[in-house]
This record gives sequence, structure tokens and C-alpha cells, in this order.
Amino acid sequence: MIEKSIFELSSAGRKGHPLPACDVPVKAVNQLIPEKYIRSDLSGLPQVSEIDVMRHFVRLSTLNHHVDKGFYPLGSCTMKYNPKINEDMSRLPGFTGLHPLQDEADMQGALRLMNELGDQLCRIAGLEAISLQPVAGAHGELTALMMIRAYHVKNGNPRSKILIPDSAHGTNPASATLCGYRSVQIKSNAQGLLDPEDLKAHLDGEVAALMLTNPNTLGIFEKDICTLTKMVHDVGGLVFMDGANLNALMGIVRPGDMGIDAMHFNLHKTFATPHGGGGPGGGGVAVKKMLEPFLPTPVIKGRQDPQESEKWLKDVEYYLDHNRPESIGKVHSFFGNFLVMVKAYTYLRMLGPDGVRAASENAIINANYIMRSLEGIYDLPYKAHCKHECVFSGVKFRDQGVKTLDIAKRLLDYGYHAPTIYFPLIVPEAIMIEPTETESKETLDAFIATMKKIAEEIEKTPEIVKSAPNNTPIGRLDDVKAVKEPKLCYRGECL
Ligand SMILES: *Cc1c(COP(=O)(O)O)cnc(C)c1O
Repeated sequence: MIEKSIFELSSAGRKGHPLPACDVPVKAVNQLIPEKYIRSDLSGLPQVSEIDVMRHFVRLSTLNHHVDKGFYPLGSCTMKYNPKINEDMSRLPGFTGLHPLQDEADMQGALRLMNELGDQLCRIAGLEAISLQPVAGAHGELTALMMIRAYHVKNGNPRSKILIPDSAHGTNPASATLCGYRSVQIKSNAQGLLDPEDLKAHLDGEVAALMLTNPNTLGIFEKDICTLTKMVHDVGGLVFMDGANLNALMGIVRPGDMGIDAMHFNLHKTFATPHGGGGPGGGGVAVKKMLEPFLPTPVIKGRQDPQESEKWLKDVEYYLDHNRPESIGKVHSFFGNFLVMVKAYTYLRMLGPDGVRAASENAIINANYIMRSLEGIYDLPYKAHCKHECVFSGVKFRDQGVKTLDIAKRLLDYGYHAPTIYFPLIVPEAIMIEPTETESKETLDAFIATMKKIAEEIEKTPEIVKSAPNNTPIGRLDDVKAVKEPKLCYRGECL
């Protein structure tokens, strides 16, 4: 059903809420507002009752799919449920009312929160120092590469290339290019792993870094990771890990132990802060000791104060370290997205170390359950057990003229968000599913049944899949045209 606009719901003389009697002296409007700003004509404003308004906006709020409404199997995005306590904490007036230019002494609580969050993230990563300033995953990648460049410059040569596997997220080569490097593609082998032979062929003194995602975007753990990182270190290069897939590793293995020198976090993915629609995000970067001097300024630090050590709040005094001559400088205003950090901190404190590990374990079990339940019905190009996500291919439906895009659209008819499709690029007609740990077995079973049903429909009635979505307010859009020629309508008139 198409929702009418609020203007179409209008009925002459209908009113919402009666205003209370005025308790200040009444003045003519033109005594209060300059004449030129006063409307001569008030007609056309919607005349609606309170219940009309309420129901209209409640209906609108559920037209879009969201994680509070239903399952959101969007691979690579870790669309887990966002606990509402995170929202409560990030709305505490002590946080929202704080100004970033206030004196350090006035914001000890906020500095402590960032310091402790950074400390917890470093423990999860097995790395030694951190900046929470970047505000997105891609921003974290760029920040880390700038630090890697600064490190090489200090050693006499910035070097010229960054090695990136062919399964990597598009932001990886984009970050390398922005940082003035040439990206060189490394092939994956038949198991979906980075090919050590191909890596070897590209290793020389010009390699600034390898950018590796682990588990990779096929959802497979790079089991030779320690060999791969050693090979890069042997030619003086560093290894950056794209940490977007950390939801598979937390509390199980530490990237620092695998030879990773720097990684970014997606607080908005792994640590349950809402995302989609462009943010806000958190893309902090953790590094090994030798990269610490290059962290963006300021770095939040704690100073022990021996005289006050009995008073728990005062025993560490937090401060901003601006005196960092080798820093790459600032990458964002002030501290980055502070309220995203509050949510991530709340989430981590709520789970505790065991809960963090359980989250990853359950994310892995859920993904494998879906993978094995749909294996055979959908093509599974890489057969190894997956970590937190699995990737199918829709190539076998080409005979019926059905594309992966059609399957994704058909899922909308059944009340699901579509999975990620056509990524990673090395899988033709890719369908990438990441259930996350927050979904129950019942939800997964219902989703699996729907995926099976769609496969049957493709055999029997492929038209219904090709025309999907059939029961959403708006059918299939021409995505390219919609971007190039946006059609903006207001009160029935289109611009
Ligand atoms: C999401 C993602 C990124 C980029 O993160 P943003 O916060 O969207 O910039 C990078 N790599 C991988 C594998 C991702 O899934």
C-alpha cells in the first residue's frame, strides 16, 4: 500500500491538539517578526487530527526495513541488533552537554571512557596503541596507511606499492591511492585464500604494506596468516589488517599475534552501534609500538597521581597529549564521533570478556548453519567452513534467466533485507550472507526456508522472481537513472 502524503490526508477544519490559553501579553505578529518574513497565505497547511499524524508517521517509520523490524543478512556489514541501552547511555546529559573545547579537568569522565575503550580494543586486537579519531572504516584504513607511510619515510623511503588481495573491499585500493600508493592485486587460490606464491612474486623493497582482511571477504580465515605476514616483514613491509570482519575473531585470536602491525575497527559494525545511511561511524586504528609516534593528535593518556591514589576517580588523571612531533596530524575534528564510542563502550562493558568471545562464536555458528543448510540449493564456490559470513553464487540460475539481483529483490517480498550481492568481486553472481550472532535459530530457519522457496520459484515460476519486488510500496527502480536524475516531489508536484 502506498502511504499518502500528509497533505492528502488533510480535511478542512480538522484539528490536532488544542493549544493552551496564552499566559503572556498578546501582541500582533508583525510586532514580533519582520513583515517580510510573515506569510500572507496559510492555506495548504495540512489539517489533520493527532491520531492522523501519529498513524501516518508510524506507518512511514516501518516502510523502510531496519534491524529492529526484521532480519538483515547484509554480508560484510555486520548488521547486528543495537541494544537500546547503548542509546540511553549516549544520551546522558553529561555526555551530550559536553563541549569538546572544555578544559581537560571538566571532561575527565569522557577522557576516561575513550581511554578505557581504546585499552579494551587494544586487548582484543593484541596491539599496543590506538587512535579513535577516524570516523569510518575507510577513514581508519587511510589513517593507518598514512602512519605506515610516515614510518617508511622516517626509515628513508616511503616505498611505492600496497599489495591487496583480489577479494578485498573496494575501500582498500581507494585508501592506498588516496595515500599516494599504487595498489597491486594479489590473487586468491582455489580455496579462496591469498595465494602465497603470487604474494611472493610481488614482494620487493617497494612494498610499503600488505592490506589483508582476515577472515577475508569470502568469510574464510587466512590459515597461513603467520607465514604471509612474515614474508612481508622479511622485505621490510608492514601488514595492515582491514578489521571490518573482527566479529569473527573477538576473544578467539588476536591480530597482533598473527603479525599484524596496524588494523582498524568498525565500531559501527562489530560493536553494535547503528549504521547504514551514512553514519555516524567509528573507525579507530590500533597499532604496534613502532607506529605509535605517528598516531593522530591528540592522544588520550592517563597520568598516575600518587597523592590522590586512594580516591578511585582521581587515581588516574586523563589528559590530551598534543606534543607529538612525528604525528601524521589530525584526521578529524576534536575526538572523532564521541557518542559512537559511548555506545561501543557500553556494549563492551555489558558483554565482558566472555560475552565478547561468545558473540564471535555464535556469529560463526549462525553463518555455518545457513551455509550448510543452503549448500546444494545455491552454489557454494568455496566449501571450507566459514567464519561469520558465507558466500553463495547464483550462476546456476542463469538458465532460467534469473540473476542474483532478482533473488535479492524477491527477499524483499518476504520481509527480509536483501543480502549483499555482487561482492566479493571474485565470485560471479555473489550472494553474501552474514547473519550475526543476534539472530535466533527460529529466525535463521525461517530465512533458510524462504531461500529454499525462492529457489523453487525459480524452477517453477521464474517470472515472479524476475519481477520482484512485487508487494513493496515501490517496485524495481532503475538504480542508475535514480541516481543521475533524482525526481523530487513536493505536494504532488515533481521538480
Ligand atoms: C565495511 C567495510 C569497510 C569500510 O568500512 P566503512 O565504515 O563503510 O568505511 C572496509 N572493508 C570491509 C571488508 C568492510 O566490510
